[in-house]
Amino acid sequence: MQNKIWLSSPHMGGNEQKYVNEAFAENWVAPLGPNVDGFEKDLETFLNADVKVGALSSGTAALHLALIQCAVVYGDEVICQSMTFSASANPIAYCGATPIFIDSEKETWNMCPVALEEAIQDRISNGKKPKAIIVVHLYGMPAKMDEILKIAGKYEIPVIEDAAEALGSTYKGKACGTFGRFGILSFNGNKIITTSGGGALVCHNQEDKDKAVFLSTQARDNAPHYQHSHIGYNYRMSNIVAGIGRGQMEVLNDRVEARRKMHDFYVELFKDIDGVEVFSEPTDDYYSNHWLSAIVIDKNITGKNREDLRLAFLEDNIESRPLWKPMHLQPVFSEAPYYGTNVAEKLFDDGLCLPSGSNLSDDDRLRIEKIIKEFFIS
Ligand SMILES: *Cc1c(COP(=O)(O)O)cnc(C)c1O
Repeated sequence: MQNKIWLSSPHMGGNEQKYVNEAFAENWVAPLGPNVDGFEKDLETFLNADVKVGALSSGTAALHLALIQCAVVYGDEVICQSMTFSASANPIAYCGATPIFIDSEKETWNMCPVALEEAIQDRISNGKKPKAIIVVHLYGMPAKMDEILKIAGKYEIPVIEDAAEALGSTYKGKACGTFGRFGILSFNGNKIITTSGGGALVCHNQEDKDKAVFLSTQARDNAPHYQHSHIGYNYRMSNIVAGIGRGQMEVLNDRVEARRKMHDFYVELFKDIDGVEVFSEPTDDYYSNHWLSAIVIDKNITGKNREDLRLAFLEDNIESRPLWKPMHLQPVFSEAPYYGTNVAEKLFDDGLCLPSGSNLSDDDRLRIEKIIKEFFIS
């Protein structure tokens, strides 16, 4: 059996262990220390938008704290993009709130502004104004932020940007994760950079960041004994993990470039294959990190479906995966309201994510090319 080609695997830069060793040498083996501070600074510099970043144990934890800071409580409603990973929606349930799912539009596969406004109006007319809007930049593709922010502003609802997949992406030159009241990032093992597991909350002022850090470290009041006036969480990032993050930040620009090259590779490969569309930026306003490259297969033109291609890849030990199954189709969220047509559903039926790692070799690309050509051409 040939070695496995993964969809997206960790890719170390080389200096990660240096920072981790420093933490050991100085006995900063705790959820605070120079690596946590350094990693936060690195992220603030990279995002380049006068933001304050709080490093946390995961992107999911960051979303949970963002919702808490938007005052989401039991019985509230929170709007969320349907086509996404379940971690975008689960924190709504942690708060005891109900997700209201929104369809995608065809250009960026992200939240459809038309369905968003329809949902807000309908929820208000039902007597409840949604407390927050969670918009996702899927596979690194920026959402239609101008339209979404305009609607959110009109109804005065805060936007939380799930930029877990979009570190290094920009919309009109501005970093994804810096548009909303809060942004969240993830450094899970499969993301564009990884700390093995970790996340961050992007804030726009020191007060919001301080509150996030306070909540993430068990909400201890300022007293010599343990004194608590709030429910706290254990969500802070470890100083060991943050050391990996500092090493990864040194190579983030290279990783974005390599992922974008993988996208170019697929564009070139599919340009002569009718009925297959490679997921690409609709205009120059959008700059995707192309965390994952994805295609949509038109069955009527190709006579092939995405599941057969997935199996053909699997035969050669190559990983590929259907797009995120929309949340409104998930058994766990079957009771949640949904607004839209069936754009996300159709994308799920016909779409496939292809190997996209920044560490794939020319040999790996040849293997991928061979499977694709055999599948579509013969
Ligand atoms: C990975 C991911 C998350 C969750 O991040 P974790 O760090 O794994 O908790 C949230 N949203 C999206 C869209 C993701 O891809």
